[in-house]
Amino acid sequence: MKATVYKSTGSWYVVKAEDGRFYNARIKGVFKIDDITSTNPIAVGDIVGISPEPGTDNSAMIDEITPRKNYINRQSPSHRKQHHIVAANLDQSLLFATLKDPKTSQGFIDRFLVTCEAYHVPAIIVFNKADLYRKKEEERLEELSEMYTRIGYKVVSMSVAQNKGVVEVKELLKDKITLMSGHSGVGKSSFLNSIFPELGLKTQDVSGWSGKGMHTTTFAEMFDLPFGGSVIDTPGVREFGLVDISKQELSHYYPEMAKLITECQFNNCLHVNEPGCAVKTAVEETGEVAVDRYVSYLNILGSIDEKNY
Ligand code: GDP
Ligand code: ZN
Repeated sequence: MKATVYKSTGSWYVVKAEDGRFYNARIKGVFKIDDITSTNPIAVGDIVGISPEPGTDNSAMIDEITPRKNYINRQSPSHRKQHHIVAANLDQSLLFATLKDPKTSQGFIDRFLVTCEAYHVPAIIVFNKADLYRKKEEERLEELSEMYTRIGYKVVSMSVAQNKGVVEVKELLKDKITLMSGHSGVGKSSFLNSIFPELGLKTQDVSGWSGKGMHTTTFAEMFDLPFGGSVIDTPGVREFGLVDISKQELSHYYPEMAKLITECQFNNCLHVNEPGCAVKTAVEETGEVAVDRYVSYLNILGSIDEKNY
C-alpha cells in the first residue's frame, strides 16, 4: 500500500496511507537507498510503500521508497558535506519574509531562491506584516517586488494582522503541496491559524523572535488543508540547500543570469572579473541583472569558496 510521510522523527514516521488512515511506521531492516549523501533516508513528503503490521491497529513497516520528484535540503548539523532532506515531492515553496520586526535580509531570500531553483521547486515570496511598513519599508517592498517579479517570481504583500492578502495566499495553496519557510517570527503560524483555525498552532509573543521560544519541534510536518492541498511547516529550519552546489553552477540558479551565461567569453566564467562577461555587462550597462542580486550572487559564491569547492 502506498503512503505519504507526514512527519518524521528520525527513527519512526507518521504516514497517511491511500486508505486515508494514519500509521506509525518504521523502516524495515536495511533497504537500499540511492541517496547516500543525506543523513535521513526518508523525509516528509516522501511516497513510501508500507505493510501494516498484523495484529496492530496502526503500526506499519516501510518497505519501499518511491523516487522523489524533487526535494529541499539543508546542511546536516553534524556533517558539513552531508545534507538533510527537509521535504520531498513539493509543488511549490512559499517563503515568508518581513521588512520589519524582524527584517529578512535579501541575502537570505536569494539563498532560499537558489535552493529552490537547484532542486526544481517553484518559489513564491510573501512579504508579511505590511501593516507595520512605513515609507522606508514600503519603498523597499516596491523595489524588491519589482526586482523579483521581473525575474519571474510571484511576490505577494500580506498582513495577517489586518487580514490583507491572506485570501490571495490561501488561494495559492489550494490543491498543492507547499513547503512553508522563513525565519522565526515572520508570521507563518499566525497565517496558518488564520486560514485554518482548527490547526491551533502556537504563535510567538512579540519577544519570541529568538527562535527558541515556543517552537520546540525541529522536524518538518505536513498538514492537510480543509479546502484542499497540504502545507509542510519547517519550524527551526533556517538555512537551506547550497551544500552540494558548486561555484560553477551557481549562476544557473539565478534565472536572469542563467539566460546570459552562454554569451560570456569564457565558458567557465564565474562572472567576477573575467573579460567579456555578459553578466557583468548586464549589471553595469543594461541593468538586466539587478545590482542587489549580483551582490548576493558574489556573497554566495564567496561562501561556497570557504567550503572548498
Ligand atoms: P512564525 O514564527 O513565523 O510562526 O511567526 P508567528 O506566527 O509566531 O508570529 C510572530 C509574531 O508576529 C506574533 O506576535 C504575531 O502576532 C505577529 N504577527 C504575525 N503576523 C503579523 C502581521 O501581519 N502584522 C503584525 N504587525 N504582526 C504579525
Ligand atoms: Zn560571465
